[in-house]
Amino acid sequence: MKAIRVHEFGPPEVMKFEDVEAPRPGPGQVLISVKAVGVNPVDTYIRAGSYGARALPFTPGSDAAGVVEATGEGVKGFSPGDRVYTSGTITGAYAEKTLCKEAQAHKLPEGATFAQGASLGVPFATAYRAIFQRAKALPGEMVLVHGASGGVGVAAVQLARAAGMKVIGTAGTERGRALALKEGAHYVVDHTRADHMDEVMRLTGGNGADVIIEFLANVNLASDLKTIAKGGRIVVVGCRGKIEIDPRESMGRDGNILGMSLFNATEKELFSIHSAIVAGLENGTLRPIIGREMPLKDAQAAHHAILEERAYGKIVLVP
Ligand code: NAP
Repeated sequence: MKAIRVHEFGPPEVMKFEDVEAPRPGPGQVLISVKAVGVNPVDTYIRAGSYGARALPFTPGSDAAGVVEATGEGVKGFSPGDRVYTSGTITGAYAEKTLCKEAQAHKLPEGATFAQGASLGVPFATAYRAIFQRAKALPGEMVLVHGASGGVGVAAVQLARAAGMKVIGTAGTERGRALALKEGAHYVVDHTRADHMDEVMRLTGGNGADVIIEFLANVNLASDLKTIAKGGRIVVVGCRGKIEIDPRESMGRDGNILGMSLFNATEKELFSIHSAIVAGLENGTLRPIIGREMPLKDAQAAHHAILEERAYGKIVLVP
């Protein structure tokens, strides 16, 4: 089968499109014929060697959707022919076939496309964990999704809106702001404007946001701290560098900065997250948005795009 392989850490060009032997399912494992692969920023950090210790060579990616081809001994929940998506794999998602543990496979509801299925494992699970498990946001609260045009941001907007929160979304382009509005934001703001947090303050009636889901903390954390309401929670989801903050800003507001990594979620938490995601797909409140589909062999270009271009939903690779 064809797969993307990384033999050395480095820029996107270290990813090669190669022939490799197809994996076979062992006990408790599910073999999936992959129809779509989700590209996530973390895939680029792992490929570069800056995040997570991976043994070389490897096939990147954790998020795939497709059809079960075979199951290993003891697998009870899946049969050949089932439509599924993954939240992690054993052999890597950037391939024509991938192997995962039974707990990493989830039924993909009929109404969802494979490209949408490949957009769930990291983005929707991250957004769910940030809003509900870390911020413990409540219906009626003001939620600022600080980066609402990308894979996790669109998911956060849809989840918060469906749960009855008031949502402000930010994006760096007109197209991204239109997407955030269409997907459920009550208000949108341009995060490329220096005064955009003044606009957030105005939209919250001067109270500030109860919850900020933050995708670029190294740029925004200091201003986030000045823009939260009393008891406000900032969830640091994305951060690509350092920033100086004034901790005093958190004192008068009883403010909270909450870090989060999806990789810290327990099996029980992940089960809960994916149960909610599948329910949201079934009832139509969750609708992953695909900005771009590219052939699997163009993984190098996809990695350039996800880090260098303005976001619009998900980038998906098709084997
Ligand atoms: P993505 O699809 O590339 O989206 C990036 C988002 O960041 C876009 O909405 C982009 O908006 C926005 N952005 C750009 N400049 C910004 C600014 N100055 N202020 C606020 N937002 C800004 O990436 P993603 O998959 O959504 O992931 C977003 C971040 O979360 C990444 O850094 C990723 O590594 C991280 N992440 C962390 C976890 C975790 O477990 N902690 C899990 C998943 C993802 P425009 O392009 O419209 O400007």
